[in-house]
Amino acid sequence: MIKESRHPGRYWHRLENDRIQCDLCPRDCKLREGQRGACFVRMRQDDQMILTTYGRSSGFCIDPIEKKPLNHFYPGSSVLSFGTAGCNLACKFCQNWDISKSRDMDRLMDQASPDAIAIAAEKLLSSSNTLRPLAAAL
Ligand code: SF4
Repeated sequence: MIKESRHPGRYWHRLENDRIQCDLCPRDCKLREGQRGACFVRMRQDDQMILTTYGRSSGFCIDPIEKKPLNHFYPGSSVLSFGTAGCNLACKFCQNWDISKSRDMDRLMDQASPDAIAIAAEKLLSSSNTLRPLAAAL
């Protein structure tokens, strides 16, 4: 089990009623000390907004590009997918509900710093015939 992240969150402001409001998505969560937002991964701690999932991932996978919401984008190629726990939506048909609504994130997540993900992507790119660098393709 890895340690929970306490990464400083951005995009929030203080309200007059002793709450802080997250400005990251349209839910505009207004939090008291110790509360989490609807996404469950941003929370108020020590009077600041923090992100509890920074540098942590719930899974990595090489997917066919056709699984992504991209139309005719390098058909037949592959893409490195990764994600984190939590979601600000609440779709009743969510196929990833065990991750998106998980309250057991510490057990589910692996360490995944942005640098480590970039290094993994470069390694995969150099060893794959089908993986495409998105930046180079745009
Ligand atoms: S759901 Fe999460 S990202 Fe959206 S406003 Fe609330 S705390 Fe911020």
